[in-house]
Amino acid sequence: MLGNMMDLPLQISSLLDHAEQTHPDTEIVSRRCEGDIHRYTMSDAAKRAKQAANALEKMGVQQGDRVATLAWNNYRHYELYFAVSGTGAVMHTINPRLFPEQLVYIINHAEDRWIFVDLTFVPLLEAIKDQITNVEGFIVLCDEDRMPETSLPNAICYETLIKNEPETYSWPLLDEQQAACLCYTSGTTGNPKGVLYSHRSTMIHTMGSIGYEAIGISSLTCALPVVPMFHVNAWSIPYAATMTGAKLVFPGAGMDGASLWELIESEQPDLLLGVPTVWLMLLNHMEAIGKKLESVQNVIVGGSAAPLSMIKKFQEGHDAFLIHAWGMTEMSPIGTINCQTRAMMEMPLEERYALQQSVGRPIYGVQMKIVDDENNEMPRDGVARGRLLVRGPWIVQSYYKSDDTSNWHDGWFDTGDVATIDSKNYLRIVDRSKDVIKSGGEWISSIDLENAAVGHQAVAEACVIGVAHPKWDERPLLLVVKNEGAEVSKSEILEYLTDKVAKWWLPDDVVFVSELPHTATGKLLKVNLRTEYADYLLN
Ligand code: ADP
Repeated sequence: MLGNMMDLPLQISSLLDHAEQTHPDTEIVSRRCEGDIHRYTMSDAAKRAKQAANALEKMGVQQGDRVATLAWNNYRHYELYFAVSGTGAVMHTINPRLFPEQLVYIINHAEDRWIFVDLTFVPLLEAIKDQITNVEGFIVLCDEDRMPETSLPNAICYETLIKNEPETYSWPLLDEQQAACLCYTSGTTGNPKGVLYSHRSTMIHTMGSIGYEAIGISSLTCALPVVPMFHVNAWSIPYAATMTGAKLVFPGAGMDGASLWELIESEQPDLLLGVPTVWLMLLNHMEAIGKKLESVQNVIVGGSAAPLSMIKKFQEGHDAFLIHAWGMTEMSPIGTINCQTRAMMEMPLEERYALQQSVGRPIYGVQMKIVDDENNEMPRDGVARGRLLVRGPWIVQSYYKSDDTSNWHDGWFDTGDVATIDSKNYLRIVDRSKDVIKSGGEWISSIDLENAAVGHQAVAEACVIGVAHPKWDERPLLLVVKNEGAEVSKSEILEYLTDKVAKWWLPDDVVFVSELPHTATGKLLKVNLRTEYADYLLN
């Protein structure tokens, strides 16, 4: 027997309608490419999103068409999040940090019809315009008097496009399973893979992510998402803030410590979200100017592991709690979050810090387990390490336009991560399976070694790779970028690590380098390093 309740589809446009009626005066503040700070309200945003929706319709954009953006975190990008998906088209957020050949690949693979582009990224598209054959035109996100001379065909200024459009628009009723957004993984090996979210998956993910046991966002919150809107929808914050009426502060291109501090000082956000590298820059800046992040209560950190030294610096220097989170593009992205619990806050500080290094527990909706090589489930004892599999309503079922099924087993998605799960469902990421170092049949976590090494005051960034060894198959090699002006020797670093990791984990050597390669999402790119240093311990 079926229930008797209404079957209204979950669709992204309903968020904006809700915000317009419920949180019309909530502020959205953006640092613009034009250089100034822009402020308006959710009610203003809703009107402009509807103008954009009318314009999209006039441009002939049909349901299911892919419409791309190449833009920073700012109010125009926010409007497009709702205008594009709301009309039934697919919002394809492109990561501008991808290599040009990857940009060409994904724009062609997605068959984008139109691209909305921030001023900053116009030259990027000009360089590849002859290779992206499906695109009919380009809309530049800028004021009319800042419209650049460009070789892009059919280029229009966004403000010109929308200015004469009505501020009202009736969002079409959509099937909630209809595609809403398309994000590509940054593809450390091979071509990027497309993950096509539906209205339903995005909406359930948003509902699952707002509560205290997740991001903890409400109309009391002022959120500063530094995580880009071109990287997994800024972890869903634009939707979550619209659902709850949280104030949004968009940093635009200003992700350096000084620019972030300027916004933090003027807007007083209590919630910051981003990957560890941006917080390193902010913390260094705060130390240099000798100021404290007074307004900040929580800093959600994910994308890569947050080192212990960062957890301590936020707590002891700024009274800010670091909430460690884990997820991936394939998971919309939130999987686990390590929010405060009563038990955690009653622990002695060092014990609490140790727990904060875990990436927390799954939010409701995500199921996870670890398995061995034969796909047998392994115990939740905090010790057994296995391949991490997940399933849930906002987890990818197949890649866009791909028949590769190798990442799925019995309805579970293989994350490519190696992890432990403890008896209370706390997850610890040991490593990506391709990065874990297999030394004499035992595993060494490159993440744990890197986190320990960056605790040394002279170390700006650390990267550990497994390199061939005649006796142990593989041994860890530590590559270090020193802080500017810092002096430190190999033996001092190895000495520093001795009481932080098991003795047999100690790297066989330390190499000082001037910089390390990163992926488009700011993660260490180890593939080329592994080739470069393959024979390092054999010679
Ligand atoms: P990419 O496009 O690089 O795949 P994702 O954001 O989807 O970008 O990357 C997901 C991966 O990032 C995860 O599978 C995991 O390996 C890593 N990751 C994410 N959060 C954390 C974290 N808190 N600690 C360690 N690794 C993390």
